[in-house]
Amino acid sequence: MVSPSLLPLEAPTPAHICPFDQTCSYLEQAARELQLDQGLLAILSNPRKVVTVSIPVKLDSGEVQVLAGHRVQHCDVLGPYKGGLRYHPAVTLREVSALAMLMTWKCALLGIPYGGAKGGIALEPAHYNIGELERITRRYTSELIKDIGPEVDIPAPDMGTSAREMAWIMDTYSMNIGHAVPGVVTGKPISIGGSRGRELATGRGVMIIVREALAERGKSLVGARVVIQGFGNVGSAAALLLHQAGAKILAVSTGSGGIFAEAGLDIPALKVYAVANSKRIAVPEAVPITNAELLTLPCDVLIPAALENQITHENVNQIQASIVAEAANGPVTLEADQALLAQGVTVLPDILTNAGGVVVSYLEWVQGLSYVFWDEERVNREMEALMVYAYRHVVQESKVRQVSLRMAAYTLGVGRIAQALTDRGLYP
Ligand code: NAD
Repeated sequence: MVSPSLLPLEAPTPAHICPFDQTCSYLEQAARELQLDQGLLAILSNPRKVVTVSIPVKLDSGEVQVLAGHRVQHCDVLGPYKGGLRYHPAVTLREVSALAMLMTWKCALLGIPYGGAKGGIALEPAHYNIGELERITRRYTSELIKDIGPEVDIPAPDMGTSAREMAWIMDTYSMNIGHAVPGVVTGKPISIGGSRGRELATGRGVMIIVREALAERGKSLVGARVVIQGFGNVGSAAALLLHQAGAKILAVSTGSGGIFAEAGLDIPALKVYAVANSKRIAVPEAVPITNAELLTLPCDVLIPAALENQITHENVNQIQASIVAEAANGPVTLEADQALLAQGVTVLPDILTNAGGVVVSYLEWVQGLSYVFWDEERVNREMEALMVYAYRHVVQESKVRQVSLRMAAYTLGVGRIAQALTDRGLYP
């Protein structure tokens, strides 16, 4: 029997599926598969450190608001904590904790010497202007000044944040410490030590994993019919790179709905439009489509690249894709995951599929530490090698253990962490 989670319970919204409970459930399955010691499982089921801060901010209207900010550090047995910072109204402590745990398995799976962490502030970025977002980001950073650092915990962009927020964090941290500390964040602008290739990295990783999965089935990206939910950092980069590789992107969406074109969307034109029109999406050849309709379109590859819990017991029977590539974290619920397996749909798991971002974050850190900066071609090459190696390892593990690709990715990631914990021993 696993020790109960030490995390406080949060009131679930109707039909809410707790991402932390789901991630723990996969961990327990992996632990059974690995015959892990119950004490180790209890350690891994709980984050090592949970910090919640209140962030008071004076808006330009004069109103003062207080926002809740979290940073969860799950496990640092392999190295400094690493994980994105999310700005979204649905952010909760348990969601951030789930994402921190996923980062631990992801880094271990990819062989990167980082631990898992995640941060989040419950806010709708569109409701704040740039100055207000900057004040919120700087205050959050100040509140966490003792908990982050290049050898402690290194934030990066996630939903609702980008290189801009990373630059504010780097500046706030550096001003407090008294000298420039570029290594405190990754995914920062190239002007202050960011890596070439980082912006497209998560999307490029998605493209690589999808390409490998198709190749294994004797298929190619050329002419593959692809549907993508979400056209943000990850979704738009994956769309562009898949389009460049010859795939046909039939539909994409944002929170306000999607667009569809049977003959394929002009993704470069769409990207230009989205940049010029506050992330809205439209091209002449497309017709509108809802997010619910988008998920059930017939296609070769469905790429959820937005939020958690998008494929659930309610819509899983209508999924017509042969492959679901999890670009988002946790887009398929536990129940839906089993149903997809039974339906013969291949699920490419999040901790593998969206790992391109953290791989290039690691490469950014390596470049920063060595004061030698690489061209984009080298960054992409090094990232691709790690992604392809991990993909092949996961496929091999799934064959050997006769488990799904997700469980194979978990047994590899969790197994490496368990080994490291065992080798280090339990302090004191
Ligand atoms: P983003 O904020 O840049 O984009 C999110 C996109 O999802 C936007 O297009 C938004 O309009 C859309 N969206 C929001 N709510 C939606 C809804 N209800 N239905 C459909 N679309 C909706 O975020 P991102 O950085 O692209 O992150 C997307 C996912 O990828 C998240 O799960 C994140 O954790 C994961 N991820 C991101 C990175 C990274 O490097 N940014 C790395 C690994 C994983």
